[in-house]
Amino acid sequence: MLLDRRSFSLGSAALLTGCATTSARTFSDCTPLRKVLVDESRVIRTVAGLRPYRASGFVVRREALGDKALVHNYGHGGGGITLSWGSAKLAAELGLPGHAGPVAVIGAGVMGLSTARVVQDAGFPVTIYTAALPPDTTSNIAGGQFHPFAVFRDSEVTPEFRAQFARALDYSWRRFQIMVGDDYGVRWLPTYVETDSPDARVVATFPPINRMLRPAEHPFPLDSVLRYDTMYVETGRYLRQMVRDIQLAGGKIAVRRFATPADIATLPETLIFNCTGLGSRDLFADQELHPIRGQLAILEPQPEVRYAVQGGFGYMFPRGDGILLGGTFERDVWDANPDPAAIARIVASHQRFFGGFRCAA
Ligand SMILES: Cc1cc2nc3c(=O)[nH]c(=O)nc-3n(C[C@H](O)[C@H](O)[C@H](O)COP(=O)(O)OP(=O)(O)OC[C@H]3O[C@@H](n4cnc5c(N)ncnc54)[C@H](O)[C@@H]3O)c2cc1C
Repeated sequence: MLLDRRSFSLGSAALLTGCATTSARTFSDCTPLRKVLVDESRVIRTVAGLRPYRASGFVVRREALGDKALVHNYGHGGGGITLSWGSAKLAAELGLPGHAGPVAVIGAGVMGLSTARVVQDAGFPVTIYTAALPPDTTSNIAGGQFHPFAVFRDSEVTPEFRAQFARALDYSWRRFQIMVGDDYGVRWLPTYVETDSPDARVVATFPPINRMLRPAEHPFPLDSVLRYDTMYVETGRYLRQMVRDIQLAGGKIAVRRFATPADIATLPETLIFNCTGLGSRDLFADQELHPIRGQLAILEPQPEVRYAVQGGFGYMFPRGDGILLGGTFERDVWDANPDPAAIARIVASHQRFFGGFRCAA
């Protein structure tokens, strides 16, 4: 949606050339930022993950499973971290009214963990049943930017879905704000985006602050840059803390893989939340659910880098556990192993980008 994946334009190339001849001068027309040191030798790990994408948007729906109630909460594409609290709240609103007794949540990615916390907050005992736990979930791979990127295709969604999306986004935005700090690994960062569009808003209220910059307000070798402020989640630390919160509140976790809905119906709980992400494709025969693979090269941490940037070259999110370089978006690729050639391309394009800074701090 927001990320403009153009490769370097002619205009940008001209700026790069200008940079080489003026680098010794003081830049009155350039606001410096710290450069990321991009080099293959600084790569500390590489990862790939499969975004659970549905063109018509994520599913929050209640249905009967024999004499039990089943509430789906899956299919959040490239925005599952962002939407987690809000989508969990919508799901809980469909499941909890009128319910008494323990509750089951299937899945321990960000959606299962958030749903479990919302259910606990409402006073119900919870057991999470899951095939895999953090750190072995897609949610652990996520870059963790609070932005609902690639969640649906505009032409495929209904007005009802848009309303659901806006509510989920709004609640998440407020919920993450009260988790900012080192314990959950959530922080605010200025975010710079290469885009021609003068407005980054995906709904009327988000992001609340955003504006196009003049060339003098940034160092990037880009023609057109927008800035907004948003939160970033260090997903490993965050999910670990969420698991602890659930256990502290008395929640139980059982490792179990379900093959069919009939399997799920054997659980003792009468209310079940399905938060299995891409797993719902097989488990509930949802053929609209597709993987979109994303790959990341992670560089040694640079605590002095305190901004994020994205554009045709890819994206850079700085986190305590490393500098994330990303940008691949591979539809229907099921292999969750990083491809060395793609990783090399990610590193090279970021090397060109940071090498082209017009000035640096
Ligand atoms: C490279 C990359 C970058 C991303 N960046 C961002 C970002 O910056 N911001 C953002 O908001 N989002 C981002 N995302 C998207 C985000 O990661 C996903 O939307 C989110 O993780 C989905 O969460 P989930 O809990 O639904 O799924 P998962 O994390 O996949 O969790 C599913 C859980 O269900 C369990 N399960 C599955 N099938 C079964 C079964 N049959 N029986 C029992 N258990 C089962 C699994 O074991 C797992 O515990 C990114 C994704 C990728 C790949």
